[in-house]
Amino acid sequence: MGVAQGVLLLAPLVFPASAKLSTLAEEPEWRLLDKYQGTLTVTEFQERIPVFSSDGALNQYLTVSDGRVEIFSDKGKTAKLWELRLAAKPADGAGKSIRAPADRERPLTGLRICLDPGHIGGEWADMEERHFRIRGGPWVDEAALNFETCRWIERGLRAAGAEVLWVKRELGVPVTDRRPADFVPQAIKMMWRVDAKKASRSAANAQLKLLRWYEELIFYRVAEIQARAEIARDLQPDLTLCIHYNAFGWSKRGPKLHQNVNRIVIFTHGGYLASELEYDDMKFHLLQKLLAADSDTERRVAEAVARQVVNVWNYPPERPGESPLTVTATPLGKTPYVWSRNLLANRLYPGPVVFVEGPFMDDALTYQRIIAGDYDGERTIAGRKYRSLYREYAEIVVQGVIDAYRQPPP
Ligand SMILES: [Zn+2]
Repeated sequence: MGVAQGVLLLAPLVFPASAKLSTLAEEPEWRLLDKYQGTLTVTEFQERIPVFSSDGALNQYLTVSDGRVEIFSDKGKTAKLWELRLAAKPADGAGKSIRAPADRERPLTGLRICLDPGHIGGEWADMEERHFRIRGGPWVDEAALNFETCRWIERGLRAAGAEVLWVKRELGVPVTDRRPADFVPQAIKMMWRVDAKKASRSAANAQLKLLRWYEELIFYRVAEIQARAEIARDLQPDLTLCIHYNAFGWSKRGPKLHQNVNRIVIFTHGGYLASELEYDDMKFHLLQKLLAADSDTERRVAEAVARQVVNVWNYPPERPGESPLTVTATPLGKTPYVWSRNLLANRLYPGPVVFVEGPFMDDALTYQRIIAGDYDGERTIAGRKYRSLYREYAEIVVQGVIDAYRQPPP
């Protein structure tokens, strides 16, 4: 996370209402959803809606009648996009929820779990606004922390029997072949939509600089995630874990450390905003996720990871509306740590996706533990003994996943 991420979550990456597709989105292939024809009843369909559209905005685009659901591009319901035939009665043993493990010693046997260490890092870290240093200290690069943590998560998941896959293997190397300069038209549109006031008041050079910022943003926030999603679609994992470190954030005067600011937030997919649902690709992905019935798995894994966060760190959850991360998210229920949010990664990646925002890099103690690096055993930091932060974070995630799969629903 960083300052820019907060700003962008407040202003989702979408074009004005005249366009029907969000930035860089492809025309949805609705026929891909035909495999779900006749798979669920009207009650099952309607019960799944609130996770994705808690305010019911989706219903403005739906007509439910005569054993079918029609989905429209517009609220006037003149432009039909697709229709789903409903089943008259529930299918036997329906639902793809977690099942009891066959091997209790290695409870993740047979599962393919994909890791997504957030951000590109390396020479791109500055552009991504995900790195900082304090008073001449070492650089802290979020992507590198995510990578180190994922390496330990991989070991833990493998030991528990899972097959581990990665959407990205190399730190500092973008997955996408495209580069910021490829996105000039999209950047112009986005700049005038999001930043019209600033752009119009800027002199030519400043405006070009602002435009460059949007080109870069589309590169690392949209094109890079799209490229990773393409890899995930080839891998077809049973679960994807997106791993991040968070930040309290800093002003133009630069980063500084804060005392005891760590909060944890875990995202599952859903919580589409009414403004996002104006776009046809958003409606398509919402329906794809709704029909694939991955919400239950996401919630169970997220809640189990949250229980480990409480056990090990006991950091507080984010409070509604307090951080930019949660302003646009919807609390999911049982635990205050789990929120549903329509993020590009959990929208485009196939299957269940759990997105973990870890400790704050600019929390004073976390920072000390980060710059201590990875090590065996314990070290004394600020007068107390601590294990490697990366291993501790990884163990929280791994134990959460194991708990979720070891204790299937009754
Ligand atoms: Zn991040």
